[in-house]
Amino acid sequence: MQRTLCIIKPDGVRSNNVGNIVAMIQKAGFRILGLKMIRLSKEQAGEFYAVHKERPFYGELVNFMSSGPIVPIALEKDNAVADWRTLIGSTDPAEAAEGTIRKLYAASKGENAVHGSDSEENGRLEVAFFFSESEIAANTL
Ligand code: UDP
Ligand code: MG
Repeated sequence: MQRTLCIIKPDGVRSNNVGNIVAMIQKAGFRILGLKMIRLSKEQAGEFYAVHKERPFYGELVNFMSSGPIVPIALEKDNAVADWRTLIGSTDPAEAAEGTIRKLYAASKGENAVHGSDSEENGRLEVAFFFSESEIAANTL
């Protein structure tokens, strides 16, 4: 079993697509290990996306990710990392495959509705950014 992190980004929450996205997650056979709605400070958003610190879009990304509530969701499944990336589609919704979450619900390359971890290691680390092991254990009893 692999873990991966979904975040429904501020645009996905604002457009009232939380329920639609959770339904797609469950239909696709992911197990939800944790789910919460929170608002990140700029500092927390900057920490989560620290890997992109040198990229030109970093400032805009940090402002956007702290602009409203988000819904982090810890997911588990065989091949969760790759399967979640497939379900969300390309970073730019204009290039995302039909039926993917970003194709359906995202407006732009920056405001693209959802996050997905990019490796098994980052899946574990990013789940741990938002959820403690004791929280997850309590949810899996
Ligand atoms: N992003 C952006 N402009 C870009 C590339 C990325 O605003 O040219 C934002 C976008 O919100 C994206 C996030 O930065 O989801 C992280 O970028 P990454 O390349 O890791 O894309 P992802 O893994 O989310 O598909
Ligand atoms: Mg990425």
